[in-house]
Amino acid sequence: MASSVLTDLPGTVEAANPYVTAQRQFDQAAAILQLDPGLRAVLREVRREFTVNFPVRMDNGSIRVFTGYRIQHNLTRGPAKGGIRYHPQVSLDEVKALSMWMTWKCAVTNLPYGGAKGGVICDPGQLSMQELENLTRRYASEISILIGPESDIPAPDVNTNQQTMAWIMDTISMEKGYSIPATVTGKPLSIGGSEGRPAATGRGVMVVTMEACKRLGWEPQQCSVAIQGFGNVGSVSADLLQGQGFKVVAVSDVYGGIYNPDGLDIPAVLAHHAATGRVGGFAGAREEISNSALLELPVTILIPAALENQFTMQNAARIQAKLVVEAANGPTTPEADDIFHQRGIVVVPDILANAGGVTVSYFEWVQDLQSFFWEEEEINARLTRIMELAYRQVDELAQQHRTTLRMGAYCLAVKRVADATAVRGIYP
Ligand code: GLU
Repeated sequence: MASSVLTDLPGTVEAANPYVTAQRQFDQAAAILQLDPGLRAVLREVRREFTVNFPVRMDNGSIRVFTGYRIQHNLTRGPAKGGIRYHPQVSLDEVKALSMWMTWKCAVTNLPYGGAKGGVICDPGQLSMQELENLTRRYASEISILIGPESDIPAPDVNTNQQTMAWIMDTISMEKGYSIPATVTGKPLSIGGSEGRPAATGRGVMVVTMEACKRLGWEPQQCSVAIQGFGNVGSVSADLLQGQGFKVVAVSDVYGGIYNPDGLDIPAVLAHHAATGRVGGFAGAREEISNSALLELPVTILIPAALENQFTMQNAARIQAKLVVEAANGPTTPEADDIFHQRGIVVVPDILANAGGVTVSYFEWVQDLQSFFWEEEEINARLTRIMELAYRQVDELAQQHRTTLRMGAYCLAVKRVADATAVRGIYP
């Protein structure tokens, strides 16, 4: 058995209610857009909330009941899309916020999707592989009335991966009686997954970081980077950014972080992490640091790639970075956002910065529907084009409204969803 996934991260999910944050962000954008009050009322709530309590047989023969959610915020522009996370601190309001952010993320990149999210309250580090499979299959079966290529398409998120998606795809397919690859994305290649999907979120983070630096007039070689989180997103971002010439000086995982002001050799950190399961103990580190200390390092660029609420009223004034790229969903509270804005710290918001994952999920779904698969080169080129275009459009709107990149991204996204809602009209 592995250990718990609970972390030494400074913020906790309880620190600020993520749904209150998401609604405050939306309200701010609705005001800038002078959105019609009826549309405002529709878009500031989630459309469907589904809670399931379900039994799982544990290895010792006992039965445990787990609670899970699948929330659909919006379906106006296409099927609902969004990941599933496993974490002890999953809550209804967290999943509602994440589903709303998925709607805006898909709209920022102009993918033909609405937004959804799922979560199960559990500590996957405390579960065996068999227990994880049992939990995943029963949860998939419980939410299967919502799931399908035309209605709602799950993907990996915090503490879920390709194997989780394979179990979900198999469970839904067995219930239908035939294989439905397009029912989830982030699957293994052998069952209809896409080239480039595992690295897609990190690749998107790299692309937007380059875009931001270009606009700020910075060369990668002049920039030091600290990355909080060494999961699928943080580790790939670190590797790709170093490949572009950035000096990655600090990384961390749930146990803590490592720091070397002269730069860390990321391929070597990746090998150490693969061998030991943590970044701590890496021979090339000058210092071992906590996750909260990592956020306050004297670096040019800070990349939160873990959980919500990492930047709050408590630490925002002490952040030394000039650029924050939100690889995680919801890492900045509205109070911290205001402090960053006042202090001239540029924030590339989550709904733009981490949209690379869902963009290649979209490619995976398209390939599955056509049963025709593309090469990685083509996927990466298309991903880069979409991320660069989204960045440009967000930046233009931010300048036009004299506001932050977050509000630029919200204006782009909310307007797209609002226009689609208005033209469809109200049923019946
Ligand atoms: N969980 C990822 C996110 O938060 C990916 C979602 C997807 O690919 O549907 O964007």
